Amino acid sequence: MSEQKTLIKRRVKRRRVCHFCADKINLLDYKDVEKFQRYIADRGKIAPRRNTGFCAKHQRILAEAVRRARYMAIIPHTTD
Ligand SMILES: [Zn+2]
Repeated sequence: MSEQKTLIKRRVKRRRVCHFCADKINLLDYKDVEKFQRYIADRGKIAPRRNTGFCAKHQRILAEAVRRARYMAIIPHTTD
């Protein structure tokens, strides 16, 4: 009974605006690590959209910046 209640409660409809949309960020430089570091797990993994709350466009921009930062060895690659 109580379990079901919590499940229902979690489906609260709330419009989540993505952080980058709110900040009107349309370009993400791979050098701005501070800007996207919080969206990367310690292993260098990009956080999934359900965690970041990003829209498709900004998730893509983030992924691109992270990939570039990895290539430049600014942040670690996934595992090892
Ligand atoms: Zn966005």
